[in-house]
Amino acid sequence: MPDLAAATLPLSPPALLQDGYGRRVSYLRLSVTDRCDFRCVYCMAEEMRFLPRAEVLTLEEMAAAAEAFVSLGVRKIRLTGGEPLVREGLVSLVERLARLPGLDTLALTTNGSRLQQFALPLKQAGLHSLNISLDSLQPERFHELTRTGHLGDVLAGIAAAKAAGFRRIKLNSVILRDRNDDEIIDLVRFSRREGLDLAFIEEMPLGVIHEHDRALSFVSSSEVLERIRGEFDLLPCPEALASDAGGPTRYYHMPDSTIRIGVISPHSNNFCSSCNRVRLTASGRLLLCLGNEHSVDLREVMRTAPGDRERLQDAIVAAMPLKPERHEFNLEEPPQIIRFMNMTGG
Ligand code: SAM
Ligand code: SF4
Repeated sequence: MPDLAAATLPLSPPALLQDGYGRRVSYLRLSVTDRCDFRCVYCMAEEMRFLPRAEVLTLEEMAAAAEAFVSLGVRKIRLTGGEPLVREGLVSLVERLARLPGLDTLALTTNGSRLQQFALPLKQAGLHSLNISLDSLQPERFHELTRTGHLGDVLAGIAAAKAAGFRRIKLNSVILRDRNDDEIIDLVRFSRREGLDLAFIEEMPLGVIHEHDRALSFVSSSEVLERIRGEFDLLPCPEALASDAGGPTRYYHMPDSTIRIGVISPHSNNFCSSCNRVRLTASGRLLLCLGNEHSVDLREVMRTAPGDRERLQDAIVAAMPLKPERHEFNLEEPPQIIRFMNMTGG
């Protein structure tokens, strides 16, 4: 188990992070690994080459980066990947980050396969909230879409997360035409029954895949909402209920249920104007935008001057003007972004 020293917090006064378009950056998605025990068909190629260990940030470096961001005004961190629960020592990282003064929300996105083992330790370590990916409720189809996953493990993981006391667990489903679009209503029913929020995500052209044609499999959020409206009353969420600390999800609710239905629409409803997010990849590349390559190498900064918080803060502040105004996705053209979602940090 890595030795993570207790957090020491900012020496210099917080300077808020703001990009060249006046957007305040208050949300960091931190990818703790590019590795994963699944090979979801929209996220990865079947044969993947992962980063050599030396190129991946150590847990100490991840904690140092997170502390620098929080000292600069970041209020929410989401741990992601790859699959964060395959990273050894993750619980100790959560324990350290959860204690950071000034951090309001520490969240994690997982495929759920290892939650039976980790839900309780994560809760005890101080993790606030969980997103769990679930694209199908049919065991064979689930295995086909994830290539290696077992639905039973994920359902048991969801049960473990509820039993551990997590509130407002959110399920994420990527909907692909003729693969799982016939399960939209089943997924809504499941979420209502389980008392879990559910967000439908439009597939994004991140990385070159040959398994399916992303243009043909695309299902827009408006189509998803239309189909749900065929079965349930959907009302836009009042502001208080809709708030998700500035995430990209647009929420709806139903008069006869406590859950929220969300849509994440990187194609059809470009959310860039209110973007408050940046991503740090497992190799320490600070990505300023999901759909562009503008980035700064923070690993280089941390390895050249280990422990130099001020230098790291300066590098982060200096990166902000590189944040592009918006992303454009065009499914008719070859992907502009050749990095896969597991590299990006979803
Ligand atoms: N392994 C974890 C999981 O699956 O939840 C965390 C990382 S995963 C990259 C984060 C989210 O990105 C998942 O909900 C996944 O479904 C979504 N995702 C992956 N590739 C995507 C793509 N090409 N388009 C849209 N969403 C994608
Ligand atoms: Fe792994 Fe998540 Fe990508 Fe699926 S979406 S392959 S679970 S990183």
